[in-house]
Amino acid sequence: MQFKDIVGQEAVKQRLVNTVAENRVSHAQLFLGPEGSGSLALAVAYAQFLSCENKQADDSCGECASCRKYQKLMHPDLHFSYPFFAKHKDDTALTFIEQWREAFTVNPYLSLDDWRGYLDAENKQANINIAECHQIIKKLSFKPFESVYKILILWLPEYLDKEGNALLKIIEEPQPNTLFILVAQNQDQILNTILSRTQLVKIPSLTYDEIKQHLLTQHNQTEDAAAEIAYLSNGNLTEALAMLQQDNKGYHDLFVQWLRLCFSNKGLEVLSFVDQFAKMGRENQKNFIRYGISFIRECCLLMAGAGNLVHLPAKELETAQKMTNVLSIEKSQYISDELEKAHYHVERNANPKILFLDVSLQIIKILNLKTIPQGSQYIPN
Ligand SMILES: [Zn+2]
Repeated sequence: MQFKDIVGQEAVKQRLVNTVAENRVSHAQLFLGPEGSGSLALAVAYAQFLSCENKQADDSCGECASCRKYQKLMHPDLHFSYPFFAKHKDDTALTFIEQWREAFTVNPYLSLDDWRGYLDAENKQANINIAECHQIIKKLSFKPFESVYKILILWLPEYLDKEGNALLKIIEEPQPNTLFILVAQNQDQILNTILSRTQLVKIPSLTYDEIKQHLLTQHNQTEDAAAEIAYLSNGNLTEALAMLQQDNKGYHDLFVQWLRLCFSNKGLEVLSFVDQFAKMGRENQKNFIRYGISFIRECCLLMAGAGNLVHLPAKELETAQKMTNVLSIEKSQYISDELEKAHYHVERNANPKILFLDVSLQIIKILNLKTIPQGSQYIPN
C-alpha cells in the first residue's frame, strides 16, 4: 500500500512523511479515525514507507524488495493483530492471517462487518483475546529480521478488553526499532492505560468532494450517481463503496414522489408505493430512509436561510426549493423523526409492509396539518 493509493488525507500523509525526515518516529502511535476515513490503509502505507529501501520524497518506492513484500502483506517484520472469533482458546490473529490478507487486499477500507464476513462468525463476539496478547509480546521480542523496523499494526484496539493491559509493558518499553501502530475508531472505548502511552494521530472523515471525485474517476460513476452516493455516505468511503454494490440509483425521485403522494393523500397510489418499498430489501430500505432524512435536513437548511450549507446536486436542489412551499421547519422535524424511527425498525427486522404503511400514514397526517399549535407536544401517532 502506498500513500498515493489512498483517497485524500493529504495533511495526514505529509505529517507522517515528516516524522521520518525529522527523525521523530514515535514507537507507539494511535491512528484515530472514523470508519471509512482510511486509517488502516494509512497505517499500512506508513509502515511500508518506513521500511522502504528507496524512499521517495513523499511515498515509498513500491518496487524495492521490502515494498514488494509489503504489497502482499508478507514482510517478515510486518505483523497484524485484529479482532477475531476464537474457535479454540489458543486461536490467535495468525490463525486468520490468510483471510486477513485477502480482506485487506480486496478492500483496504474494510469495516468490522466486512471482516466478519471473512470469518464465518455467526453471532459470536469479536475480540482480541489473551492468547493473542501473548502472541504479540512473543513476536515483538525478536529483533527485526530484514528492515530497520519491526512493525505491529493493531486494528481496533477497542476490542482488547482488559486483557490489553498485558501489552502495557511492551508498549511502554519496546525493543529497539519496534513500532506499535494502533488503528482505532472510538477513543472512548480504548483502555485509558493504552491511550495514555500512545501518540495520537487524528484522521478526519473524508470530504464530500474527495469521495465524489474518487467515485467519478475510479469507479466510473456518473456525475449524478457520484454526487448522490458522496452525499449519503457522509465522509465514510467504506459506506460509499458498499453503496456502489447496491442498486442505489433513483432514491431522490422515489422519495420526492412518495412525499407528493402523501401530500395529496392518494391512498391507492401510496399503497402501491408501500409494496414497492417492501420489495427493496433491507439495505436498500435503510439507504432510502437515510436519503430521505438527509434530504429533509437540506430542506430545513433552505428554510432556515442557510442555503450556503446545502450540498445537493442542481436537480435535487430545485426540488428541495419547491418542497419548502409545503413544508415548514416543524413539519420537517416530525417527518424526520418518523424516518429515524423507521430506520431503527428496519434494522430490527420489522415487517416492511406494515412499517412503510405506517410511516406513510404519519407523513400524510403531518403534511396535511394546517398548523401545528404553538408549543404543543403533538407527536403524530
Ligand atoms: Zn520501496
